[in-house]
Amino acid sequence: MRIDLHTHTRHSDGTDSPAELMANAAAAGLDAIGLTDHDTIAGWPEAAAHVATSGVALVPGAELSCTASGISVHLLSFLHDPEDPDLRRESARARESRDNRAREMVRRISADYSITWADVQAQAGPNATIGRPHIADALADKGYVPDRSAAFERILAAGGPYYVSYYAQDVIQAVRRVRAAGGVPILAHPRARARGRVISDDVIAAMTEAGLAGLEVDHRDHTDSDRAQLRALAHDLDLLITGASDYHGAGKVNELGENTTDPEVLEQIQAQGMGRIIWP
Ligand code: AMP
Ligand code: ZN
Ligand code: FE
Ligand code: FE
Repeated sequence: MRIDLHTHTRHSDGTDSPAELMANAAAAGLDAIGLTDHDTIAGWPEAAAHVATSGVALVPGAELSCTASGISVHLLSFLHDPEDPDLRRESARARESRDNRAREMVRRISADYSITWADVQAQAGPNATIGRPHIADALADKGYVPDRSAAFERILAAGGPYYVSYYAQDVIQAVRRVRAAGGVPILAHPRARARGRVISDDVIAAMTEAGLAGLEVDHRDHTDSDRAQLRALAHDLDLLITGASDYHGAGKVNELGENTTDPEVLEQIQAQGMGRIIWP
Protein backbone atom coordinates (compact mmCIF):
# COMPACT_ATOMS: atom_id res chain seq x y z
CA MET A 1 0.00 0.00 0.00
CA ARG A 2 1.38 3.41 -1.01
CA ILE A 3 -0.10 6.32 0.94
CA ASP A 4 0.53 10.06 0.42
CA LEU A 5 -1.20 12.11 3.13
CA HIS A 6 -0.60 15.77 2.16
CA THR A 7 -1.80 17.26 -1.15
CA HIS A 8 -3.40 20.44 -2.49
CA THR A 9 -5.91 21.28 -5.24
CA ARG A 10 -7.33 24.41 -6.86
CA HIS A 11 -9.46 24.87 -3.73
CA SER A 12 -6.26 26.35 -2.27
CA ASP A 13 -2.90 26.81 -4.02
CA GLY A 14 -2.63 23.54 -5.96
CA THR A 15 -3.27 23.49 -9.71
CA ASP A 16 -5.28 20.22 -10.07
CA SER A 17 -9.01 19.93 -9.57
CA PRO A 18 -9.89 17.26 -6.99
CA ALA A 19 -10.89 14.94 -9.87
CA GLU A 20 -7.50 15.49 -11.54
CA LEU A 21 -5.73 14.90 -8.22
CA MET A 22 -7.44 11.51 -7.80
CA ALA A 23 -6.60 10.52 -11.40
CA ASN A 24 -2.99 11.65 -10.98
CA ALA A 25 -2.74 9.74 -7.69
CA ALA A 26 -3.86 6.58 -9.51
CA ALA A 27 -1.33 7.22 -12.28
CA ALA A 28 1.39 7.63 -9.63
CA GLY A 29 0.53 4.19 -8.26
CA LEU A 30 -0.91 5.44 -4.98
CA ASP A 31 -3.52 3.46 -3.02
CA ALA A 32 -4.61 6.27 -0.67
CA ILE A 33 -4.34 10.03 -0.63
CA GLY A 34 -4.87 12.70 2.02
CA LEU A 35 -6.55 15.83 0.62
CA THR A 36 -5.28 18.74 2.73
CA ASP A 37 -6.08 22.09 1.15
CA HIS A 38 -5.17 25.20 3.15
CA ASP A 39 -8.05 26.23 5.47
CA THR A 40 -10.80 24.61 3.41
CA ILE A 41 -12.58 21.29 2.94
CA ALA A 42 -14.39 22.42 -0.21
CA GLY A 43 -12.61 19.77 -2.30
CA TRP A 44 -13.89 16.79 -0.29
CA PRO A 45 -17.11 16.03 -2.23
CA GLU A 46 -15.52 16.08 -5.70
CA ALA A 47 -12.55 13.98 -4.53
CA ALA A 48 -14.92 11.50 -2.84
CA ALA A 49 -16.90 11.23 -6.05
CA HIS A 50 -13.72 10.05 -7.82
CA VAL A 51 -12.66 7.35 -5.35
CA ALA A 52 -14.46 4.57 -7.24
CA THR A 53 -13.26 5.63 -10.71
CA SER A 54 -9.64 6.19 -9.63
CA GLY A 55 -9.44 3.22 -7.27
CA VAL A 56 -7.62 5.51 -4.80
CA ALA A 57 -8.84 5.80 -1.19
CA LEU A 58 -9.50 9.31 0.13
CA VAL A 59 -8.48 10.48 3.60
CA PRO A 60 -10.41 13.77 3.98
CA GLY A 61 -8.32 16.45 5.65
CA ALA A 62 -7.17 20.06 5.72
CA GLU A 63 -3.99 22.05 6.43
CA LEU A 64 -4.86 24.63 9.06
CA SER A 65 -2.96 27.94 9.22
CA CYS A 66 -1.77 28.40 12.82
CA THR A 67 0.65 30.46 14.85
CA ALA A 68 2.89 29.81 17.84
CA SER A 69 4.02 33.16 19.31
CA GLY A 70 4.34 34.68 15.86
CA ILE A 71 5.86 31.63 14.16
CA SER A 72 3.74 30.31 11.29
CA VAL A 73 2.76 26.66 11.84
CA HIS A 74 0.76 24.34 9.57
CA LEU A 75 -1.38 21.72 11.28
CA LEU A 76 -2.82 18.85 9.27
CA SER A 77 -6.24 17.64 10.40
CA PHE A 78 -7.65 14.33 9.19
CA LEU A 79 -11.15 12.86 9.44
CA HIS A 80 -12.68 15.73 11.44
CA ASP A 81 -16.39 16.53 11.41
CA PRO A 82 -16.93 18.83 8.39
CA GLU A 83 -19.78 20.56 10.25
CA ASP A 84 -17.80 21.38 13.40
CA PRO A 85 -18.60 25.05 14.12
CA ASP A 86 -15.27 25.95 15.77
CA LEU A 87 -13.15 24.61 12.91
CA ARG A 88 -15.48 26.16 10.32
CA ARG A 89 -15.30 29.56 12.03
CA GLU A 90 -11.50 29.49 12.32
CA SER A 91 -11.06 28.35 8.72
CA ALA A 92 -13.42 31.07 7.45
CA ARG A 93 -11.54 33.64 9.50
CA ALA A 94 -8.18 32.51 8.10
CA ARG A 95 -9.49 32.55 4.52
CA GLU A 96 -10.95 36.03 4.89
CA SER A 97 -7.75 37.33 6.46
CA ARG A 98 -5.66 35.68 3.72
CA ASP A 99 -7.86 37.41 1.14
CA ASN A 100 -7.37 40.86 2.71
CA ARG A 101 -3.68 40.19 3.13
CA ALA A 102 -3.23 39.19 -0.52
CA ARG A 103 -5.07 42.36 -1.64
CA GLU A 104 -2.71 44.46 0.50
CA MET A 105 0.34 42.64 -0.87
CA VAL A 106 -0.88 43.23 -4.43
CA ARG A 107 -1.43 46.91 -3.59
CA ARG A 108 2.17 47.20 -2.39
CA ILE A 109 3.60 45.19 -5.28
CA SER A 110 1.63 47.27 -7.81
CA ALA A 111 3.79 50.27 -6.91
CA ASP A 112 6.70 48.52 -8.65
CA TYR A 113 5.10 45.93 -10.96
CA SER A 114 2.04 46.23 -13.17
CA ILE A 115 -0.26 43.74 -11.47
CA THR A 116 -3.89 43.96 -10.29
CA TRP A 117 -6.13 42.03 -7.91
CA ALA A 118 -8.03 40.72 -10.94
CA ASP A 119 -4.77 39.25 -12.30
CA VAL A 120 -4.35 37.31 -9.05
CA GLN A 121 -7.97 36.19 -8.94
CA ALA A 122 -7.59 34.87 -12.48
CA GLN A 123 -4.93 32.46 -11.16
CA ALA A 124 -7.16 31.02 -8.42
CA GLY A 125 -10.11 28.65 -8.50
CA PRO A 126 -13.53 30.02 -7.47
CA ASN A 127 -13.62 30.56 -3.68
CA ALA A 128 -10.11 29.18 -3.37
CA THR A 129 -8.08 29.90 -0.26
CA ILE A 130 -5.81 32.64 -1.64
CA GLY A 131 -2.08 32.43 -0.96
CA ARG A 132 1.17 33.93 -2.13
CA PRO A 133 1.42 31.19 -4.80
CA HIS A 134 -1.48 32.84 -6.68
CA ILE A 135 0.33 36.20 -6.62
CA ALA A 136 3.45 34.34 -7.79
CA ASP A 137 1.53 32.83 -10.71
CA ALA A 138 0.20 36.27 -11.71
CA LEU A 139 3.74 37.69 -11.64
CA ALA A 140 5.00 34.76 -13.74
CA ASP A 141 2.07 35.18 -16.15
CA LYS A 142 3.13 38.81 -16.67
CA GLY A 143 6.72 37.70 -17.31
CA TYR A 144 8.25 39.36 -14.25
CA VAL A 145 9.56 36.00 -12.97
CA PRO A 146 10.04 32.58 -14.62
CA ASP A 147 8.08 30.61 -12.01
CA ARG A 148 6.58 30.45 -8.51
CA SER A 149 9.88 29.78 -6.77
CA ALA A 150 11.55 32.79 -8.34
CA ALA A 151 8.62 34.97 -7.30
CA PHE A 152 8.97 33.76 -3.70
CA GLU A 153 12.71 34.47 -3.72
CA ARG A 154 12.62 37.86 -5.41
CA ILE A 155 9.30 39.44 -4.46
CA LEU A 156 7.11 37.53 -2.00
CA ALA A 157 9.57 36.54 0.73
CA ALA A 158 8.52 36.88 4.37
CA GLY A 159 10.30 39.92 5.76
CA GLY A 160 10.45 41.52 2.30
CA PRO A 161 8.92 44.95 1.56
CA TYR A 162 5.71 43.54 0.09
CA TYR A 163 5.05 40.88 2.73
CA VAL A 164 1.93 41.13 4.89
CA SER A 165 0.94 38.61 7.57
CA TYR A 166 -2.56 37.22 8.18
CA TYR A 167 -4.70 35.92 11.03
CA ALA A 168 -4.07 32.36 12.11
CA GLN A 169 -5.34 30.52 15.20
CA ASP A 170 -3.04 29.57 18.06
CA VAL A 171 -1.60 26.13 17.37
CA ILE A 172 -2.31 24.69 20.84
CA GLN A 173 -5.95 25.74 20.58
CA ALA A 174 -6.04 24.34 17.05
CA VAL A 175 -4.87 20.91 18.26
CA ARG A 176 -7.66 20.93 20.89
CA ARG A 177 -10.22 22.06 18.31
CA VAL A 178 -9.25 19.31 15.86
CA ARG A 179 -9.60 16.66 18.59
CA ALA A 180 -12.92 18.15 19.76
CA ALA A 181 -14.13 17.87 16.15
CA GLY A 182 -13.17 14.17 16.08
CA GLY A 183 -10.12 14.87 13.91
CA VAL A 184 -6.54 13.61 14.05
CA PRO A 185 -4.01 16.49 14.31
CA ILE A 186 -0.58 16.00 12.72
CA LEU A 187 2.10 18.69 12.63
CA ALA A 188 3.06 19.45 9.00
CA HIS A 189 6.75 19.84 8.00
CA PRO A 190 7.94 20.78 11.54
CA ARG A 191 11.50 21.67 10.39
CA ALA A 192 10.81 23.47 7.09
CA ARG A 193 13.28 26.27 7.90
CA ALA A 194 13.40 27.62 4.34
CA ARG A 195 9.87 29.00 4.93
CA GLY A 196 10.87 30.94 8.06
CA ARG A 197 11.35 30.29 11.77
CA VAL A 198 10.27 26.88 13.06
CA ILE A 199 8.91 25.91 16.47
CA SER A 200 11.02 24.36 19.26
CA ASP A 201 10.69 20.84 20.60
CA ASP A 202 9.14 22.40 23.73
CA VAL A 203 6.22 23.72 21.66
CA ILE A 204 5.84 20.29 20.05
CA ALA A 205 5.76 18.77 23.56
CA ALA A 206 3.05 21.28 24.59
CA MET A 207 1.08 20.41 21.44
CA THR A 208 1.41 16.74 22.39
CA GLU A 209 -0.05 17.52 25.85
CA ALA A 210 -2.96 19.18 24.03
CA GLY A 211 -3.60 16.09 21.90
CA LEU A 212 -1.23 16.11 18.92
CA ALA A 213 -1.29 12.71 17.20
CA GLY A 214 1.78 12.80 14.99
CA LEU A 215 4.61 14.48 13.11
CA GLU A 216 5.10 14.71 9.36
CA VAL A 217 8.71 13.52 9.27
CA ASP A 218 9.30 12.49 5.66
CA HIS A 219 8.86 15.73 3.69
CA ARG A 220 11.12 17.22 1.02
CA ASP A 221 11.80 20.33 3.14
CA HIS A 222 13.55 18.14 5.77
CA THR A 223 17.22 17.09 5.65
CA ASP A 224 18.25 13.57 6.67
CA SER A 225 19.34 14.94 10.04
CA ASP A 226 15.98 16.74 10.50
CA ARG A 227 14.24 13.43 9.84
CA ALA A 228 16.45 11.51 12.28
CA GLN A 229 15.83 14.09 15.01
CA LEU A 230 12.09 14.16 14.36
CA ARG A 231 11.90 10.36 14.39
CA ALA A 232 13.60 10.34 17.81
CA LEU A 233 11.26 13.08 19.07
CA ALA A 234 8.19 11.19 17.81
CA HIS A 235 9.46 8.10 19.62
CA ASP A 236 10.00 10.04 22.89
CA LEU A 237 6.57 11.68 22.73
CA ASP A 238 4.78 8.55 21.46
CA LEU A 239 3.64 10.27 18.26
CA LEU A 240 2.76 8.79 14.87
CA ILE A 241 5.16 9.41 11.96
CA THR A 242 3.86 10.32 8.52
CA GLY A 243 5.44 11.06 5.15
CA ALA A 244 3.94 12.95 2.23
CA SER A 245 4.66 14.92 -0.93
CA ASP A 246 2.84 18.22 -0.18
CA TYR A 247 1.92 18.01 -3.89
CA HIS A 248 0.68 21.28 -5.46
CA GLY A 249 0.23 20.09 -9.08
CA ALA A 250 2.19 22.16 -11.60
CA GLY A 251 2.79 24.82 -8.96
CA LYS A 252 5.71 22.98 -7.34
CA VAL A 253 8.23 20.30 -8.27
CA ASN A 254 6.87 17.98 -5.54
CA GLU A 255 5.79 14.65 -7.10
CA LEU A 256 2.90 12.57 -5.78
CA GLY A 257 4.21 9.68 -3.69
CA GLU A 258 7.76 11.09 -3.32
CA ASN A 259 7.32 10.46 0.43
CA THR A 260 4.80 8.03 1.88
CA THR A 261 3.16 6.88 5.12
CA ASP A 262 3.13 3.33 6.53
CA PRO A 263 -0.22 1.48 6.29
CA GLU A 264 -0.08 0.81 10.08
CA VAL A 265 -0.01 4.57 10.68
CA LEU A 266 -3.05 5.07 8.47
CA GLU A 267 -4.83 2.38 10.53
CA GLN A 268 -4.01 4.39 13.67
CA ILE A 269 -5.34 7.57 12.08
CA GLN A 270 -8.58 5.78 11.20
CA ALA A 271 -8.81 4.34 14.73
CA GLN A 272 -8.44 7.83 16.28
CA GLY A 273 -10.59 9.78 13.81
CA MET A 274 -14.36 10.18 13.88
CA GLY A 275 -14.76 10.44 10.10
CA ARG A 276 -14.21 7.53 7.73
CA ILE A 277 -11.56 6.96 5.10
CA ILE A 278 -13.42 6.46 1.81
CA TRP A 279 -12.23 3.21 0.23
CA PRO A 280 -12.86 2.24 -3.42
P1 AMP B 1 1.10 31.72 2.12
O1 AMP B 1 0.37 30.59 2.80
O2 AMP B 1 0.20 32.57 1.32
O3 AMP B 1 1.98 32.53 3.04
O4 AMP B 1 2.10 31.03 1.07
C1 AMP B 1 2.88 29.96 1.48
C2 AMP B 1 2.65 28.78 0.55
O5 AMP B 1 3.43 28.98 -0.61
C3 AMP B 1 3.09 27.47 1.17
O6 AMP B 1 1.98 26.64 1.43
C4 AMP B 1 3.96 26.81 0.16
O7 AMP B 1 3.36 25.62 -0.33
C5 AMP B 1 4.09 27.78 -0.99
N1 AMP B 1 5.50 28.10 -1.22
C6 AMP B 1 6.38 28.55 -0.32
N2 AMP B 1 7.59 28.75 -0.88
C7 AMP B 1 7.47 28.41 -2.18
C8 AMP B 1 8.37 28.37 -3.29
N3 AMP B 1 9.65 28.74 -3.17
N4 AMP B 1 7.88 27.97 -4.47
C9 AMP B 1 6.60 27.60 -4.60
N5 AMP B 1 5.70 27.60 -3.60
C10 AMP B 1 6.13 28.00 -2.39
ZN1 ZN C 1 0.25 25.32 -0.28
FE1 FE D 1 2.32 23.63 4.67
FE1 FE E 1 0.81 21.90 2.18
